Formats: sequence, C-alpha cells, structure tokens
Amino acid sequence: MSNKKRLKSVTIPVSTFENAMRQFDQAAARLNIEKGLLEFIKYPRRSIIVKLPVRMDDGRFEMFTGYRVQHSTVRGPAKGGIRFHPKVDLDEVQALAAWMTWKCAVVNIPFGGGKGGICCDPLKMSESELERLTRRYTASFYDTFGPETDIPAPDVNTGEKTMAWIMDTYSMHSQHTVTSVVTGKPISIGGSRGRHEATGSGVVITIREALKYLKMNPEKSTAAIQGFGNVGSIAATHLHRLGVKVTHVCDVFGGLVNQKGIDVKALAEYVKKHKKVVGFPGAKPFDSKKILYAKVDILVPAALENQITEKNAARVKARIIAEGANGPVTPKADVILNKNNVFVIPDILCNAGGVTVSYFEWVQDRMGYFWTEEEVNERLERIMTEAFAGVLNIARENKVDLRLAAFMVAIQRVVEVVQLRGIYA
Ligand code: NAD
Repeated sequence: MSNKKRLKSVTIPVSTFENAMRQFDQAAARLNIEKGLLEFIKYPRRSIIVKLPVRMDDGRFEMFTGYRVQHSTVRGPAKGGIRFHPKVDLDEVQALAAWMTWKCAVVNIPFGGGKGGICCDPLKMSESELERLTRRYTASFYDTFGPETDIPAPDVNTGEKTMAWIMDTYSMHSQHTVTSVVTGKPISIGGSRGRHEATGSGVVITIREALKYLKMNPEKSTAAIQGFGNVGSIAATHLHRLGVKVTHVCDVFGGLVNQKGIDVKALAEYVKKHKKVVGFPGAKPFDSKKILYAKVDILVPAALENQITEKNAARVKARIIAEGANGPVTPKADVILNKNNVFVIPDILCNAGGVTVSYFEWVQDRMGYFWTEEEVNERLERIMTEAFAGVLNIARENKVDLRLAAFMVAIQRVVEVVQLRGIYA
C-alpha cells in the first residue's frame, strides 16, 4: 500500500476540545472584541493531571489518571462536574470545562468553568474501589478545590454518593465540615432540594419554550431520548408531564420503543432495580444505534458528546434537538442540521438547569439556610425561561442559530467582567 493510501485509511478521532474552540471562534468573529482579550478567555486557565494509585479488592494496586481543568475563574470560582469513564482524557475535560464557562455565563450565575474526570471503567469496579479512587482523587486536588476556588459536581457515572465522599475527604483534610466545596450532595448533608432533577427539568423547560416558539403542541409531539441516566430519565419524566409522548429511549446496553408512549415512571422504577432499560416489559427492543434517527418531533441526546456528526446529521428526523448532554452535536453537523431546519437547543443553554441549582446549593450551604423545593423550582424556572428568551432574541436579531447566539451572549458577559476587573499587572 502506498503511503498516501495508508494515510487515507486512518480515521482521525474528533477532538472535542477543537470543536468547542470552533464554536467559540464562530461567535467571537461576530463580536467586536480585541484579539488578545479573546485569546485570554478562550483557553483553559490551568489543566492538572494526577496519577492515582488505588488498592483494588483483590489486593493489587492499579494506577488511574485523573484530571481537573479550570477553564475560567473570571466570573467566579471554577464550577463543573466530575466524570468517571474509560474515554476520559485531557482533550475531553478541557472541552467540558470550556462549555461550563459559557454555560454559567448564559444563565448569568457567578461562576467560571471547570471540569474533572478519571479515566476508569466504573461499571467494572466495586463500590469500595470507587470510594478509594474518589477519595484519592479528592486528596490530590485538595489545594485546587474549595468553595471560593473550584467546586465539583456530578457528571457521567458519578452521583450523590460520589459527592458525599468528596465532601467528606475534603472536610477531613480541612479538619472541619465544608459542605459548599461540592454540589449535587445528598440533601441530608447539605444538598439542595431539586438538584437531582434540575438538569433534566431545565432541559424540559427549554423544550417547552421551543415548542411555544415553533407553535408545536406538546400533546401532539413525540420524543426519543438517548441515555437514561440522571439527565435522560428526569427529562423523560418531565416531558411526559408536559404531555409529550416518549416513544424511544436507550442506554449504553440497548434501546426500547413503544409507539403508544413508554410508561416513563414505570421504566424509571425498573432501571432503579435492574440498572438498565433492556428487558423492560412495557416496550419492545430497539436498536440503540438508530435512536438518533427515530421518527419523532423531539430528540434528546443525554449520553455523551460527538453523537451527531457530519456523517449522520442528515439522517436526523426530529424538528427539535435538545442537548441534554454536553457536546452531542459537532460544528460540522450543525451546518447540516441548520440547512435541514432542525431547531437545536444548545447544551450551554439546554442543560444549564443543573449548574443553576448547583449555584443554589452553594448559596444555601454558605448561608446554612435551606430553601423549599418550590422556592428552588420557581427560581430555576425564572432563570431558564429568561436565559432562553435572551438567547432567542439575540438569535433573531442577528439571524443566527441558538448556539451561536448563546456563545455570543456568554462571551460578551465574560469580556465585560474582564474589562471591569482589568488585567492584573
Ligand atoms: P449518567 O451517568 O447518569 O447517565 C448516562 C447515561 O447515558 C446512562 O444511561 C448510560 O447508559 C448512557 N450512555 C452512555 N453511553 C451511551 C451510548 N454510547 N449510547 C447510549 N447511551 C449511552 O450521566 P448524566 O449525569 O445523566 O450525564 C449525561 C450527559 O449530560 C453528559 O453529557 C453530561 O455531561 C451531561 N450533563 C449532566 C449534568 C448533571 O447534572 N448530571 C448536567 C449538565 C450536563
């Protein structure tokens, strides 16, 4: 084989960070902002990689690699989740950290952006191994994390239990309880009411607003959901409450279809017990790889990034894509979806409900005074609807899609703060 032919057969993996940078550049090009300033806010402030030795249940040591990226601390402490997944690497964590900066700015909460992760396969690890790994990771970042500096939260394969271990480890090193170092904790140790549901319920608030704008009737609309974890399962429940028929769902193990509508509540109960959607009696099996092309009105990718690319975007049939996941649609796919008149609610707006209630949790922890679920939901509702309306206005004024508009709003907000604070020395 000639070198040329050999090179052609190599598939270059998608760089998620490059995709995030491209989205930034497209929005920045429409704003009149000094080049040097844009460079300052575009790239991560710092990226840290740590080695994590963990004793496994069978007695041997295994080495893991952990990451924490602080993309920006211009508007406040770095804020962002921690992911446990075999595909976690610096490229992915940097992208996710950047999106957190823009997300916090879109909903106008006083945080910068951060993200963390550990390259591991949590589905193959015991709970005690995961606890030791989490505690070692937290101890390695003791100087990085803090209520005023960098506040982790849950992401893929991490949840309340993980956050409790982080809070406890950080507190043991501090020699006193520090609840506000992490959000997404169980309510009894300083978590916020409504945080568990916040991302999925925020996703559905933006879908509701999009349906209104597009003059679509929720009760005549159908939805498909990729991923049935925290975001996907709650989004499904809230869509059902809105009157939308959820016909397709899938997780990493397989998919389900029921054209009459899946009983989402019963499915959530089933998943609690069986840890997967496969086998649920109220629906038929469905090829999970085809969920993105399901004949539905609303598609909610709620799993991982780079799902809809230039290779498959033309096959999407939904009128609305609501990005529950971070980065499920690549910039090249956006071009195709725009051409096909698909209304994409971008991640930095669509799934911002999670970080919004994380902000509420941080505020409550610092006050030591906790709000009712109604208070949390009312404040979340206001922030999400205002953010949606603001982004939609900019999109219509500038004749751009919602992603570009959301980035424009976010970049301007970060730049305004840099200009007010000034550049030190
Ligand atoms: P989770 O671990 O609770 O759930 C992930 C779900 O996706 C699981 O059902 C898993 O089986 C499924 N999945 C994984 N790979 C898949 C694949 N290849 N095909 C189909 N399904 C697959 O995670 P989560 O917290 O719900 O996060 C999901 C997405 O939402 C991520 O992109 C995350 O960054 C984003 N997000 C989460 C939050 C939050 O508060 N948890 C906030 C904002 C954004």
